[in-house]
Amino acid sequence: MNTTRRNFLKTSMAVAAAAAFASPAKLLAAGAKKTGQSQKALSSDKMVLTFEPFEARMKHVFTISGSSRSTTPIVLTRISYQGHVGYGEASMPPYLGESTASVIDFLKRVDLSRFSSPFQMEEILTYVDNITTNNTAAKCAVDIALHDLCGKLMGQPWWKIWGWSNKNLPSTCVTVGLAYAADGSIDREEVRKKTLETLDYNLIKVKLGNTEENDKTMINTIREVTDLPIVVDANQGWKEKGQALSMIEWLAARGVEMVEQPMPKLMLDQAAWLRDRSPLPIMADEACQRLSDIRKLYGAYDGINIKLMKCTGMREAREMITLAKALNMRIMMGCMTETSVAISAAAQFASQLEWADLDGNWLIANDIFTGMKVVDGYITLEDKPGIGVEPI
Ligand code: MG
Repeated sequence: MNTTRRNFLKTSMAVAAAAAFASPAKLLAAGAKKTGQSQKALSSDKMVLTFEPFEARMKHVFTISGSSRSTTPIVLTRISYQGHVGYGEASMPPYLGESTASVIDFLKRVDLSRFSSPFQMEEILTYVDNITTNNTAAKCAVDIALHDLCGKLMGQPWWKIWGWSNKNLPSTCVTVGLAYAADGSIDREEVRKKTLETLDYNLIKVKLGNTEENDKTMINTIREVTDLPIVVDANQGWKEKGQALSMIEWLAARGVEMVEQPMPKLMLDQAAWLRDRSPLPIMADEACQRLSDIRKLYGAYDGINIKLMKCTGMREAREMITLAKALNMRIMMGCMTETSVAISAAAQFASQLEWADLDGNWLIANDIFTGMKVVDGYITLEDKPGIGVEPI
């Protein structure tokens, strides 16, 4: 028996064991039962998609410019095929317009039985994308599970299948969320506390886009605790280009190295004006959802923030990286509040990123998978097949 075959069998057994004993697998198996799919169907020659809602509980109430919340709805997916299982996930923060109900409605419409092999990835994912215009998180849940499955069938992780490295990967930044006192000012004690929790990392992300006074208080408070480099996400919060520029100049003098989405996403001319004058690179997040958005952002932003839940998953994310590189645009990857499934899928791209914002699993208290690990602040990727996750 050659090594590949041995690894292949070892992988199959590990997957089978995980499917038999682990809680999310049980959860999903229960979902399969509900939808009338037997265990026999799960190991059949046809791909079987199952899914189940899950609520991610956040360690802290999470506040960005405009909203606060303490849980995030998620739908876990799995695609079973010949005894192998690929895991996926849709995360639905409310501002993206998807809900557990809309994702489940979408997934019920996905009929994988019309395809004979999971390796028809282009065909399958094009079919999935064409079911509706939106539902990017639901589409992503299928995309990630299919990638995980195919990687497991090949016995290789995606970073390796794509010819990339797992050496010298970037740090992930970790977010210090906004915290307000009862009078609407920044709760400095709470911000100090949150900042102290991030000191094992190498890069802090701060959500701004509030009043000038609150924004400056956030940065000053963090700077009382640490000199770690900071990236700022204004989440479209600065509405006027002159105001945005003077904030960015102020931030540049305080060890901030990049600003994400300083102004509203539709203000492209103003973003271009700002980019011409900004001492810091500005990155498009809300303005950049999918591959087709990149062309219009060229010249207005220095780079793009790719998120799997926005762009329908790993297939399109890879295309976005190729196009951004061709345009000499800078690349970061971000996340929603997610379990280790979607974070580990995003981490496959780590070697291609200038900034990684993959702390979604760190932000939740009830992760049910293990996968990508952060060591000394850096992303690490093991040599595990697919997206490299296992149910806890
Ligand atoms: Mg952002």
